[in-house]
Amino acid sequence: MPSVEELYKLSDQPFNEKEKALIKKAYDFAEKAHEGQKRLSGEPYFVHAFETAKTLVKLRMDVQTIAAGLLHDVLEDTPTSEKTIEDEFGSDVLFLIKGVTKLGTLKYRGHQRHVESLRKFFVAMANDIRVVIIKFADRLHNLRTLEFIPEEKRERIAMESIEVYAPLANRLGMGKLRGEIEDAAFPYVYPKEYAEIEEIIKERKESYEKNLEEVKIELEKELEKNHIKVVEINYRLKHKYSLWKKLTKRNMDMDKVYDMVALRVVVENVEECYRVLGIVHSIWRPLPGRIKDYIAVPKPNGYRSIHTSIFTGSGGTAEIQIRTREMHAEAAYGIAAHFLYKETEGGKKSHYDKEKFKWIEELKDLNYNPDDPASFLEHLKMDFFNDRIFIFTPKGDVVDLPEDSTPIDFAYAIHSDIGDHISGARVNGKMVQIFSKLKNRDIVEIIKKKDANPSSKWLEFVRSSIAKKHIRSYLEKNSLLTKLKSFGKN
Ligand code: MN
Repeated sequence: MPSVEELYKLSDQPFNEKEKALIKKAYDFAEKAHEGQKRLSGEPYFVHAFETAKTLVKLRMDVQTIAAGLLHDVLEDTPTSEKTIEDEFGSDVLFLIKGVTKLGTLKYRGHQRHVESLRKFFVAMANDIRVVIIKFADRLHNLRTLEFIPEEKRERIAMESIEVYAPLANRLGMGKLRGEIEDAAFPYVYPKEYAEIEEIIKERKESYEKNLEEVKIELEKELEKNHIKVVEINYRLKHKYSLWKKLTKRNMDMDKVYDMVALRVVVENVEECYRVLGIVHSIWRPLPGRIKDYIAVPKPNGYRSIHTSIFTGSGGTAEIQIRTREMHAEAAYGIAAHFLYKETEGGKKSHYDKEKFKWIEELKDLNYNPDDPASFLEHLKMDFFNDRIFIFTPKGDVVDLPEDSTPIDFAYAIHSDIGDHISGARVNGKMVQIFSKLKNRDIVEIIKKKDANPSSKWLEFVRSSIAKKHIRSYLEKNSLLTKLKSFGKN
């Protein structure tokens, strides 16, 4: 049975009395408003509101968001008026609930539905990211009770979760939530594959864990000897859906998946992270090419950690992830980590690092041809959800681009004028063609010429939408100019 105390207890930072009072008020209000209503599972409807709020507490969201989570279905599913909500809970909570309700009303089907859903998400994200996070929490509980939903709706909801919700959560750095959404949806979208993965995990889990336990004990001993204070050390199994995705890229060969299990070492500061890396490599031999320093160069979604894979000695391999306390919280909560309610006292609006999440603003400006939703989705996947590469300027600034980007993409990412006049490029000191594919961590210097200009051929090679947009607009302007000039001659 739900209880408001359970919500208080779930939080790892205690709520103060005022905060508790708001949560309690929303809790009682929602319980009463949904009284007598049942979910398809037969449970009282309020359980859904309660579970949604639980996820929000775990994500450490501010109390307005938690209250809105409890109340998120009262406008749509009960006779409660907007005015009542505003009078009782204030305009901020009302705004959040209305935002969530709007996100949920979709007209279309199929590809077009995904596009519609994404576009609504983008607008909501740019306005107030908290709306999106409530929607994620709502969806997670709906996925976990999907077995009670009529079959024809089941797959649609699960598929939309994998195609729209999970990539968005990932892009917002919410790794944990993304894993939970994907794993809840996985069996409904790919039942056969899910069963296979279950089987693989069952077979190997024990030996993996035993292996890692040994590594953990030895490492703990060594860290203590070196006077490194460990905040936390534990291991995790890879989420099922992401394991399956990785396996499909590796010909289903489990021996090529090096991060099935990972040992996480959380320490106090960055300097100690590097010391731990040194200690790890002095005990175990690292696998070549598997050392990744996401502290020096964070992933585009903000993820930071040092990763290395080692031969454990007993024939196996294991991944070790080293990070600080702050990075650990960010890796789990992503953008939500910026809402730690303790920090939000005084001002309540979103104050995540706008610079870090400036792609959210860019999303709003994406061109969209409504006749072609499938290609819009493709294009989004390329630009925002797919693997990205990091390219450096000669000065060491980093630009992140879609995989297989060219020097032209890089030039446009820096400035449209540089893109419009690129004539060549030097990659790691060597001259290359402007159409060549860049690789992660290349250092690229653009060579400009005044009389160099975009041609339609460029469109075949570039990958980023910003480059495409600028090239198209150059070509359009130019063809207009040519026409005007030829008019002038007549
Ligand atoms: Mn709901």
